[in-house]
Amino acid sequence: MTKIGVLALQGDFLEHKKILVEIGSDVVEVRLPEHLNDLEGLIIPGGESTTIVQLIDTYKLRKPLQELTSQGLPVWGTCAGMIVMSNKLTDKYPTPLNLMNITVSRNAFGRQLDSFETELSISELDNPDYHAVFIRAPSVCNVGKNVEIIAQLEDGTPVAVKEGNALATSFHPELTNDNRMHQYFLKIVENEKFQHRLI
Ligand code: GLN
Repeated sequence: MTKIGVLALQGDFLEHKKILVEIGSDVVEVRLPEHLNDLEGLIIPGGESTTIVQLIDTYKLRKPLQELTSQGLPVWGTCAGMIVMSNKLTDKYPTPLNLMNITVSRNAFGRQLDSFETELSISELDNPDYHAVFIRAPSVCNVGKNVEIIAQLEDGTPVAVKEGNALATSFHPELTNDNRMHQYFLKIVENEKFQHRLI
């Protein structure tokens, strides 16, 4: 069984956990650095990024998360999780963890559009048609040269990005019945495991 951690400090970690269990992973709720031992992948959920980052620092998780990510641990952030993973924000708070080379703007879709649902085409899925849920979502305003854009809005705004084993989505796959993005993350995790076994 593949052991996936879900950062369980604040936000919708239980929704991620439910889908991961459904697709057959072993799930660990991560609250302290020792919960990161032996993980094969980690999800940072949606919620409130300032609170999540505050708690990450309170529980001394920033450094271990940065180290594990730079060693190749697959990490996926959804919504607030994307904000946490970025290397730069257009906003003053919080101070992101710099797990990915992206600049992100919090609450980028303003008040009127702060929550919406839309159809996306996600190039990495076998059937790319995907119904996505955005809730006070961040947008990616700039990507580094190794970052792949795997989904964007009609106006070109990137909403799913990948850099090595790091994945971030502005939307919330954990709030739908469609588990294909979780399956996709599991594929990244399995692939990383496979490569390690070859070495
Ligand atoms: N806007 C929130 C933030 O800034 C993120 C919202 C979400 O995760 N749904 O943290």
